[in-house]
Amino acid sequence: MKTLVRGGMVVSMDPAVGDLPRADVLIEDGRIAAVAPSIGHADAEVVDAAGKIVLPGFVDTHRHTWQTAFRGVGADWTFTQYRTAVHGTLKPHYRPEDVYLGNLVGRLEALSSGVTTMLDWFHCAARPENADAAIEALRDAPGHSIFCYGADGLDIAPEIRRVRALLPGDDMALGLRGPVVSTMDETVADVALARELGLRVSTHIHGTGGWPHGDRPIAGMRERGVLDDRTTVVHGNDLSDDQLAMLADAGCSLSISPDVELKMGFAPLATGRALAAGIRPSLSIDDCPSAGGDMFGAMRTALAAERGGVTTRDVLGFATVEGARACGRDTGSITVGKDADLLLLDAEDLSVFPVGDPVGTIVAAGHPGLVDSVFVGGKAVKRGGRLLGVDLPALRARLLESRDRIAAAAGVALDGSWKP
Ligand SMILES: [Zn+2]
Repeated sequence: MKTLVRGGMVVSMDPAVGDLPRADVLIEDGRIAAVAPSIGHADAEVVDAAGKIVLPGFVDTHRHTWQTAFRGVGADWTFTQYRTAVHGTLKPHYRPEDVYLGNLVGRLEALSSGVTTMLDWFHCAARPENADAAIEALRDAPGHSIFCYGADGLDIAPEIRRVRALLPGDDMALGLRGPVVSTMDETVADVALARELGLRVSTHIHGTGGWPHGDRPIAGMRERGVLDDRTTVVHGNDLSDDQLAMLADAGCSLSISPDVELKMGFAPLATGRALAAGIRPSLSIDDCPSAGGDMFGAMRTALAAERGGVTTRDVLGFATVEGARACGRDTGSITVGKDADLLLLDAEDLSVFPVGDPVGTIVAAGHPGLVDSVFVGGKAVKRGGRLLGVDLPALRARLLESRDRIAAAAGVALDGSWKP
């Protein structure tokens, strides 16, 4: 099965390929088979990319997708208010059906705005059935999804083993409670379990101390030998320069959530200090009650917050190649042999026309409305601005019902008047 994406403005994010003002991309058996100014392949299905920017799909390295039904309700909240409201007030009312709908619609929104690979950082884990529902939703949505299981509250080891049996490949990661929440001994035990089961780990670290093991979580993890190139630290705003250097030395990745970190008043983004320490970060959305779900917004905020310290090409790299690296996936650039995860952006929309520098345009002015087509593993999942094979009216109705039931059970209003 061959597909020829013809005549687009190609932004490859692979320095060896570069940017090609007008080029073809050949997809064969789900992978990129060739990129060149002109490829003649009469037996391929042709996708006309004239007037489109062709770029690799985005990678979101950390999103709490289950919260989708409460999109936007916490845009004025502090971190403490978010934690009280979402984790304290709403979460106890989630049933498996609610988890399923949040994860499914959230994954579809991400896909529609160009996120072809996404790590679902799942922590609505009061019962095993919730995890099962989350996984089912990720399987029902097209796109590469990684179920990152933060099974805090359950008997962790047997539950992680149970789910690992369901997800044997690289579609699972361990959401580490981590040194901010648990003791260093627990962290060491959790990482040992992850290593035994072949799982990458992801852990939140923000705040300035007062934790079970002292104020230097990364130094502590390094001392115990639990940092490696399968470790992702989320946020990391307050980490000292020497601890960022420890992450770099161990080959760890860093996931920055630009909008949520700034809005919730974490310290300034770690972007510049991470680069100085030798880490090229990835980007993530984190939570949609607080921030928009598309990577264009995340990129623009990352650029603005580090103005002068990063270029638009750096930032687009964070959202693509660096995300892929953080997830251990063979994607994130238009490179022969990689997964054909591609986006076609409308370069003739008035919000971006005329496109001179496509990278600058994508980062400074891009938005989900430009996403005309999305290909995952060479398969079209969105064409002409519409997701394929998805009954959105039915899903919208079910998500509204779920949201209203939870809000009623929790006794909260969603019109902006709720101040937790
Ligand atoms: Zn998070």
